[in-house]
Amino acid sequence: MNVLEVKNLSKKFENIEVIKDVSFSVKEGETLVILGPSGSGKSTLLRCINNLEKIDSGNIIINEKEMIKEYKNNKLVYNDKEILNKINLDTGMVFQDFNLFPHLSVKENITISLINVLKMSKEEANKKADEVLEKMDLKEKENSYPCDLSGGQKQRVSIARVLAINPKIICMDEPTSALDPELVGEVLKTIKQLSKENRTMIIVTHEIKFAEEVADRVIFMDGGIIVEEGKPEEVIKRPQKPRTKEFLKRYINFEVNDLKELDIEENEPREVIEFFKEISDIPRESGNEERIRDYLVNFAKERNLEYYTDKYFNVIIRKEASEGFENEEILGFQAHTDMICEKIEGSTHDFSKDPIKLYQDGDFITANGTTLGADNGIGVAYMLAILDSNKIKGPKIECIFTTQEETTMIGAKEIDESQIKCRKMISLDNGKQGKMVISSANCMEWFGEIKTEKIDLLENDLTLFELTYSNFIGGHSGGNIGDIKRGNPIKLGIEVIENIDEIYIQSLEGGSRVNVIPRDFKICFWARENEYGKMKEKVNKQIRFYGEDVNIKLNRSDIKLGRENNEKDIENELYENNDINIKENNKQKEIRKVYSKNITKKIINFVNSFVNGAIEYDDNNNVVLSANFAAAKCLENSVRFEYSLRANNLKLRDKYLENLRKIEKENDIKISWEQELKGIEPDFENELVKKCSIIYKEIFDEEMELKISQGVVEGGFFKYKIEDLEYVCIGPNTFDVHSPKERVSIKSMQVTWEYIKKIIFS
Ligand code: ADP
Ligand code: MG
Repeated sequence: MNVLEVKNLSKKFENIEVIKDVSFSVKEGETLVILGPSGSGKSTLLRCINNLEKIDSGNIIINEKEMIKEYKNNKLVYNDKEILNKINLDTGMVFQDFNLFPHLSVKENITISLINVLKMSKEEANKKADEVLEKMDLKEKENSYPCDLSGGQKQRVSIARVLAINPKIICMDEPTSALDPELVGEVLKTIKQLSKENRTMIIVTHEIKFAEEVADRVIFMDGGIIVEEGKPEEVIKRPQKPRTKEFLKRYINFEVNDLKELDIEENEPREVIEFFKEISDIPRESGNEERIRDYLVNFAKERNLEYYTDKYFNVIIRKEASEGFENEEILGFQAHTDMICEKIEGSTHDFSKDPIKLYQDGDFITANGTTLGADNGIGVAYMLAILDSNKIKGPKIECIFTTQEETTMIGAKEIDESQIKCRKMISLDNGKQGKMVISSANCMEWFGEIKTEKIDLLENDLTLFELTYSNFIGGHSGGNIGDIKRGNPIKLGIEVIENIDEIYIQSLEGGSRVNVIPRDFKICFWARENEYGKMKEKVNKQIRFYGEDVNIKLNRSDIKLGRENNEKDIENELYENNDINIKENNKQKEIRKVYSKNITKKIINFVNSFVNGAIEYDDNNNVVLSANFAAAKCLENSVRFEYSLRANNLKLRDKYLENLRKIEKENDIKISWEQELKGIEPDFENELVKKCSIIYKEIFDEEMELKISQGVVEGGFFKYKIEDLEYVCIGPNTFDVHSPKERVSIKSMQVTWEYIKKIIFS
C-alpha cells in the first residue's frame, strides 16, 4: 500500500519554480533516499510533505487523505483543518539542526508535543518518553538540557521525539550534516536500525554509502525535478543520466573492501609492474620531482648506465646497443615522471609523502581513492624495464624522463636539446592501445580585455533579464571539441541577445579555464520587455537541441526601471540564494550600473564573431583546427575573455589568426596574456610511423590507427627544437586519468609490452 503519493507537485518561491511537477509514491515500510545537489529542492519537497510549506499545484496524499481538497477557479483549496491535522500527525520530521527546545530537558522535549498535540496525560507522555529514550540509548540523559549533549545525542533525541509520536512516515532532512565527522556513525546506525524495523522513511542525505545500504529506493533530484529513480544498486552504482553521474562522482569510488592488493607475482608483464610498484612508492606530484629524479639517477648508477640530469629534474638514461646492433640508429623513448594528484572527498592520502598502494580490480590496476599515476608512471615503468633488461636485444636506447608535463611542461620546454641524441622518439604517454598519435596541436591561448567603465542606467521602460546556462558537459578543449552536443554556453547566451538594439549588459560570467570547454554562463542585462518573446523562442530552440540534461533559463523581472518599491523583487530574483538580508542599497545601485550601449555592443560583437568549436577536419574526419571561447568575466575596469586556438596545420591556423586579429581590433580587445604551445604537423610517411604501424599489424593483425590529436604533447617542444626528429606516441589502455577512478588495463599493458619489445628488436 502507498502511504504517500505525491502527484504533480509544483512549488514556487517568488515566482521561481523550485519543485517542478514532481510525482512519486512511497510504500508502507519502504525507505526512500533522496539525493541531489544543494538547491535542488529536496528540503522544500520534505517541507511540503510535512505541510510546512504550501504547495502551488498538484496534490499530496498521505495515508489515503488528500492534502488538497479541490481546485476552484484554477486555485487550489487545502483540505479541512480536521483532516489536515490528522495528516500532520501522520508525518514527522527530523531536521539537520535538531530543532530541540533549548529551555526544556531531553524528556520534556519529547513529552511536550505528546501532551499538547496528542493530548496524552502527563503520565502517559512520560511513559512513552521513557520507552523511546530507552530505545535510543539516552535514558541517562533524560534530565540533561540540549546544550549539554553532543551533536549525535541531540540528533538522537530529535529522532526519539518523532518516534514518540509514531507517525506513519518519518522524514529526515540531512540528519547528519550538522554533526562532527566522528559523531555521524552513531546517528546513521540508529537510522539503519529504524529502517530495519520496517518504518516508512524518506531520508535526504549526502552519505552515499549509507544511502546505498539503507535505501529500498533512491530518487536523484536536480533543479526541482526527479532526474533518476530506482534501486540503490542502479541509481548509485550504475547511474544512467549524466547529471546523476556528475553528482555521484564526488562521492563514489572504489571502496577498500571491494579491492584486493595487487599481487605482482600473479600478473604479467611482471618486470614492468614491478617497476611501476617501485615508482608508485615515490611521491611525484607535478613540481615535486626531485625524489623520482634521485631514484632514476640511482637506477642508472647501479647499472652503470650513462645518464644526464638537469635543474628541471629531467633525466636521460642511455643503454648501449647489444652485440650485432652497434651500427643501428639509436632509438628514443620518452615519458613524464610527474602525475596529477586528485583524491576523493574524505581521503586522508597525503600526496607529498604517502606512497600510492596498488590494487587490483579485475583486469585493472587502481589506487584506492586517489589518482593512480599510470599517466605517465606506466611509461616510466616501461622505460625502466627496457633499460634493466639484458634479454631485449636491439640498438642503443635513450630514455628521456621529463617533468611537470601536467602543469607547465617546463621539463620538455627547457630540456637541453644537445643532450638528446636520438632522432626517432617513441613517447609512451598515450592511453589508447591501437591508436598512435602522430600529430599534436599547436595551441595558442589568450586573455583579451575590453576596457570598461560602468554607467548609471537612466533609461526608463527597460526590464532586467537574467539568462543562465548550467550543467553543460564541458570537457577538454583539445580532446572533446569535436562533439557539438557539448555546446558553448557563452556563445549560446550571446546568440540569444545578438540582435537586440536597445541593450545594456549589467554583468556576465562564465567558463573556468582556458583549456576547458565552458559549462556555464550567466548574463544580466536590461532590454525592452517586448524582446522577451523572441529571446524565449531562441532559448527554447537551444533547449530542444541540447536536451533535458542542461539548464537554460531566461528570467524576466516584472519590474521596469524607476519603480522604487519593487526593487526588492529584482533583488530576490537576481540573488535568490542570499538568505541573509544584505544591506540592500548597494546591491540595488549595483543593478543599475551597466556597460554603455557601445561597450555592450563590443562585447556582443566580439563573442559573436568568434568562430568557435571544431572548424576544420582532415579527410579522415580528425579535427585539425578548433577554437574554444573558454571564459568571460567582469573585472573592475574591464571585461576579460579567455580563448584559445588549436591547429595541426599552421596554414589553416594563420588564416584563422588573420580573422581573429581583425575582430579583436574592431572591438578594441587588448591582449593581456598569451602563450603558444608547439605542435607537430601530421607526417604519415616518416620511417618511425611506418615501422610502428607495420609491426603493429604483424603482431595484432589489425591496422594501427594514426591519430591527429588536438591535444598538446611534449613532443611538440622536442620537434620544435630538433627539426629532423620523428615522434610517435603510444601506450596501453588507461581510463579516467586525472581522476580518482584512474585505472590501467593489465592485459593491455602486457600486449603493449610485447609490442614495444618487438619495435626494439627488429
Ligand atoms: P535543497 O534542500 O535541495 O538544498 P531547497 O529545497 O532548500 O534545496 O531549495 C531549493 C531552492 O528553493 C533553492 O534555490 C532555494 O534558494 C530556494 N528556496 C528555498 N526556500 C526558500 C524560501 N523560503 N524563499 C525563497 N527561496 C527559497
Ligand atoms: Mg536542503
